[in-house]
Amino acid sequence: MNILISNGIILPMDVSLGNELYFKGYVGIEGERIAFVSKDRAVAEDFYARHTPDCMLIDASDNVVMPGLINTHTHVAMALLRGISDDVPLMEWLEQHIWPIEARMGYQEVFDGARLGILEMLMGGTTTFVDMYPYEEAVAQAAESAGIRALVTPCPMDFRMEHFENDWRQVQKRFSDSRLVTMWMGPHAIYTLSEKNLQRSISLSRELGTGSHVHLAETQSEQDNCMAQHGMSPTEYLEKQGLFSTKTLAAHCVVMSDHDIEILARNGVSVAHNPQSNMKLASGIAPVRKMLDAGVNVSIGTDGASSNNDLDMWEEMRTASLLQKVSTMDPCATPAYTALQMATVNGAKAIGREGELGVLQAGAFADILLVDIEKPHLYPHTNLISELVYSTHASDVDTVIVNGKIVVENRRCLTMNAQEVCQTAQKHIDALLSK
Ligand SMILES: [Zn+2]
Repeated sequence: MNILISNGIILPMDVSLGNELYFKGYVGIEGERIAFVSKDRAVAEDFYARHTPDCMLIDASDNVVMPGLINTHTHVAMALLRGISDDVPLMEWLEQHIWPIEARMGYQEVFDGARLGILEMLMGGTTTFVDMYPYEEAVAQAAESAGIRALVTPCPMDFRMEHFENDWRQVQKRFSDSRLVTMWMGPHAIYTLSEKNLQRSISLSRELGTGSHVHLAETQSEQDNCMAQHGMSPTEYLEKQGLFSTKTLAAHCVVMSDHDIEILARNGVSVAHNPQSNMKLASGIAPVRKMLDAGVNVSIGTDGASSNNDLDMWEEMRTASLLQKVSTMDPCATPAYTALQMATVNGAKAIGREGELGVLQAGAFADILLVDIEKPHLYPHTNLISELVYSTHASDVDTVIVNGKIVVENRRCLTMNAQEVCQTAQKHIDALLSK
């Protein structure tokens, strides 16, 4: 399938162009990749003539055309657990509420929970997500069938290490030809993995040539326990263990000393900043401005829907920007364009897909959004970057293309029956809570 998107306001997020917008621009898609991005009508006409009759035309008048958003940290199947436990501290939330119910979830619950989360993400313009959960095979399957791009990372934890390596080798093999799903390791956190099991995860990453996705320095108690146990911070501990010798994406990074930040920068570790989850669980405020200034690549994640409680990257961008302003008492701390970069190009860099995702440029994968800006809350149009970060809602996303295929059109998901997905999720949670 070839597609020509015409007459849209194009926001390429191309580093070489800065925050430049093409008013009345064109994007051509050939198969799964972008063929061109241009403001030249003649280029678009030539593309259309060459591909007719196999070229679909999308009129993007009154829409911003931009790269799909990249959610770099979530547990998508936890959409099923939305609202089951709110307003409690992290460890109580995990140990008394989340883990007991997760122990009763199997492949089917994870698959259907993931479908619910993926539906929400696609409808809101997220085209790639990074996941960590048990039964990642189910998440991978759900992503493939829904047509969303996913980096899935199984999470070894001390209480479920049996057969882990062999099982995971098989899953990785099964999805090795996937156009949408890639796989890393996801060592859960230093407080759920013994040194021995952390080493097993690192070895498997090296063997399979994958990166690692880890929770890091989320709370003060994680920091205090690590200091008591190992005499060093969680970041220092993971560096000593050799985790950062694999390409690493670290979620949270809230409790960070200057030395910890220097370690991340030196090792090229990317951060998934999860502001709403950190606020809801009262974990603290990640020093994003400091990390960016130190050269750390900071991206944005929602975390799971039961600690957020949604998977809305627009809200997350807005919160990331506002939270840095108020925590540093500097309104310039994280400008709107920086927040947009964190949700697109920085996300791509965090998962080793720089230049391929999070950007509209020739050769990149065609993961593209059309955002309808004909809305009262987006008028008057004076600064579109500001509108996107400070005023846009997930429900303003009109059309979503992933890997060159239209998956959401006129706010309707083409790859899933929304009503069926919601009703199935409701049945699962009703059954889980009645056990
Ligand atoms: Zn998490």
